[in-house]
Amino acid sequence: MTDNRIRSVVVVGGGTAGWMSAALLARALGETVRIRLVESEEIGTVGVGEATIPQIRHFNAFLGLDENAFLAATQGTIKLGIEFVDWRAPGQSYIHAFGEIGRPLGAVPFHHYWLAGRRKGDDHALWDYSLNARAARAGRFDRAVRRAAGDAGEPLTYAFQFDAALYARHLRDHAQRLGVARTEGKILGAMLREPDGFVRAVTLESGEVVEGDFFLDCSGFRGVLIEQALKTGYEDWSDLLPCDRAVAAPTANVGPPRPYTQAIARAAGWQWRIPLQHRTGNGHVFCSRFVSEDEATAQLMASLEGEPLAEPRTLKFVTGRRKRFWNRNVLALGLAGGFMEPLESTSIHLIQSGLSRLLNLFPNKGFAQRDIDEYNRQTGLEFERIRDFLVLHYWANQRAEPFWKACRDRAVPTELTRKVELFRTHGRLFREPDDLFLEASWLQVLVGQGVPPDDHHPMTGQLTDDQLRGFLADLRKITADGAAALPAHGDFLRQQRAAR
Ligand SMILES: Cc1cc2nc3c(=O)[nH]c(=O)nc-3n(C[C@H](O)[C@H](O)[C@H](O)COP(=O)(O)OP(=O)(O)OC[C@H]3O[C@@H](n4cnc5c(N)ncnc54)[C@H](O)[C@@H]3O)c2cc1C
Repeated sequence: MTDNRIRSVVVVGGGTAGWMSAALLARALGETVRIRLVESEEIGTVGVGEATIPQIRHFNAFLGLDENAFLAATQGTIKLGIEFVDWRAPGQSYIHAFGEIGRPLGAVPFHHYWLAGRRKGDDHALWDYSLNARAARAGRFDRAVRRAAGDAGEPLTYAFQFDAALYARHLRDHAQRLGVARTEGKILGAMLREPDGFVRAVTLESGEVVEGDFFLDCSGFRGVLIEQALKTGYEDWSDLLPCDRAVAAPTANVGPPRPYTQAIARAAGWQWRIPLQHRTGNGHVFCSRFVSEDEATAQLMASLEGEPLAEPRTLKFVTGRRKRFWNRNVLALGLAGGFMEPLESTSIHLIQSGLSRLLNLFPNKGFAQRDIDEYNRQTGLEFERIRDFLVLHYWANQRAEPFWKACRDRAVPTELTRKVELFRTHGRLFREPDDLFLEASWLQVLVGQGVPPDDHHPMTGQLTDDQLRGFLADLRKITADGAAALPAHGDFLRQQRAAR
């Protein structure tokens, strides 16, 4: 029997996507497959991408990265959620906090009890029941809340904010230790196999030819293989998410780093603020049809909290996805596969989930089309669900500027309308199988953006008014006490450094 196994994988590009891919495949495939990564320092990386979601902890754990070493190497901080400032309307803000909110009673999700309380005059905010939101607002963090000595504690749900270039470097060291070979050089083109058009090799400026069985295109927006060589095509989603530029500028920290990311609405877009240990990342994502690049840059520079550490840098993008993420023997990950603005910090996660899907469907040299189609189907659905979640932030707003009015008036995907209407009627929320974001995420953004339900679950009526009041008060107290027991986020980071 002939051995049909993949023997060599070539990773094109050494940004976050490239080194995440190389490290994960080396870890998962061991020595059975040769992994080679080609990158060009002259071309460089996109150099942004600083906020993540909690799933990244699983990725790091799978690789065997020590969390404290990782925080030190990437100048990382803890992220408990994202604060959306002025999104619903100027002067109003809310947090999309990770983790659960409140506790369900039997089959009824917690938020129905919160809604029932509101109807009876209890005006406490939804976030009074979120440990993450309370800890974020108070600038506190530990990996778990310990309520008594010896108690294992209630774990917090957290992610990281880090320097993406340092993360890629950290992964590069790790991947090279696992046996990944690195080639420095600029790829000029691809050699395609006759008659099926599979990629046989990439050719470098130096004249070197790098052959492989399977190619991961992690070459960023260019899509060196997936687009330039295979002409796969791109699905443009800018009618749904019209922002098309970002201007970024790092600043010096002005205080202890906040354990959360900020997304601050602006006249024609929004601004991120991501505190790291050594600096703060800032950027203004905007729609060039409503504000010029000069004006957007001026708005960013005028609203920075600290001293700028570099000149502002503009990046252009088209929101959307590759028509096929996997085409023949090329799989595109990271920016080569598609891009959605960093509003919910999902890009690095999409690299991770693409890789985990790839491991499930890892091919042999036959490259079964059914498996490729399944990868593309699942990845496409994940992209669409995230897209709809982002659209919700823009669509449910009460701001007066023309950009925001246009967002409100824009037709939204049917699937999103169904979800919103289900919530609006009786506060019902269901997670779709391919939805990255759980019910608590949709809940916070729906409530935060001002989409009130007309009614709630009738089974909340099984509690008397006194019981309901007591249940809500107890949960608020447990949550407030838990947050108050945590150390300051800055102290936590200092302790981890000292422990190393
Ligand atoms: C404004 C902005 C903000 C973002 N913020 C976040 C965020 O907060 N959170 C998040 O999760 N994501 C964020 N992202 C996305 C995140 O930056 C990317 O998903 C991530 O960095 C992966 O990038 P990449 O590796 O695909 O591409 P790149 O970083 O562009 O790397 C491409 C690599 O390919 C190489 N290359 C390209 N062409 C060639 C060639 N011809 N020959 C050889 N090598 C080549 C380059 O040298 C480089 O090594 C943001 C993106 C943007 C644009």
